[in-house]
Amino acid sequence: MTLRLFDTETRAVRDFEPLVPGHASVYLCGATVQGEPHIGHVRSGVAFDVLRRWLEAKAFDVAFVRNVTDIDDKILRKAGEAGRPWWEWKTTYERAFTRAYDALGVLPPSVEPRATGHITQMVDLMQRLIDAGHAYASDGNVYFDVMSFPEYGALSGHKLDDVHQGESVGQGKRDPRDFTLWKAEKAGEPSWPTPWGRGRPGWHLECSAMAEFYLGGTFDIHCGGMDLVFPHHENEIAQARAAGDGFARYWLHNGWVTMGGEKMSKSLGNVLSIPNVLTRVRAQELRYYLAAPTTGRCSNTPTRRWPRRPQPTGDSSRSCSRHVTGPATFPSERGPTRSPTHSTTISGCPRRSPRSTAGAVRATKHSTTET
Ligand SMILES: [Zn+2]
Repeated sequence: MTLRLFDTETRAVRDFEPLVPGHASVYLCGATVQGEPHIGHVRSGVAFDVLRRWLEAKAFDVAFVRNVTDIDDKILRKAGEAGRPWWEWKTTYERAFTRAYDALGVLPPSVEPRATGHITQMVDLMQRLIDAGHAYASDGNVYFDVMSFPEYGALSGHKLDDVHQGESVGQGKRDPRDFTLWKAEKAGEPSWPTPWGRGRPGWHLECSAMAEFYLGGTFDIHCGGMDLVFPHHENEIAQARAAGDGFARYWLHNGWVTMGGEKMSKSLGNVLSIPNVLTRVRAQELRYYLAAPTTGRCSNTPTRRWPRRPQPTGDSSRSCSRHVTGPATFPSERGPTRSPTHSTTISGCPRRSPRSTAGAVRATKHSTTET
């Protein structure tokens, strides 16, 4: 019996061959605990809970790591705007995510490490990168030198000329394509000591450091939402492999949740909160919808209305192997009479997809196959 997974990095369905027979080591990028979770936030937790349960059902001993990003610009900003301590803010919403995962039947991970609890590992990793010539310190910041890593872009398909990290220019950054490993201390923000000055971690650094700490330099599966392929996972690979680790052997990505063709996002104001949805449907139904990717057509178009259960969209000859689509339509939080043209869909078909996102996920119940 062979488990077959769609691997984003190779853009191919591959037989799952664990590093250690009978064991499976899995790292899932968890939540940034900045606010109340909406259903888009927990899709990866549900999708890869299915993968984990599948592995365990096949008698694998699974080490499943799902981190908590508990230090971040948004956490600090929102806590500040609310006049609350950042540590109270992030703890409050970490608990909210835990409640959501519990409600949806997501098993607790083997370990749930917080970024702020792994500064030592991050400092060690930065030191290795600086020693190897892949990173540099400047004015209290530490940056990764993208041009020093020839394989950069292999996961996402980004060409170096097209790289935009989505972060500020950065004090002392030598090349705008470089990304931040460590942010220099700012007044009023929490900070930790390093050999290069006090500061706080950049987002990408934590996952490479924690994955290595818990799962070793080389492990089996790294997973997360499709929107993390670039820059987050690209940068995780650069950090880990430039430091000499093999890192993940399989990369799996789930599609995101969309509403009216747009990614569900607080910044777009189109979110469905989990407590609200659970007043309308049972938790099992929400879990089913979030876990059901199907191998559908490459489309954001909803194919049926809630609460009918989704059916496979069938006809693989017309399917787009790059994407997964969940044919679910949710009722609006603003009322039941919403126009179908604005209905909510669950879909993995990104609107702005670099060739990179070739790696839609086949890591869930319907698309993980055994032969
Ligand atoms: Zn991550």
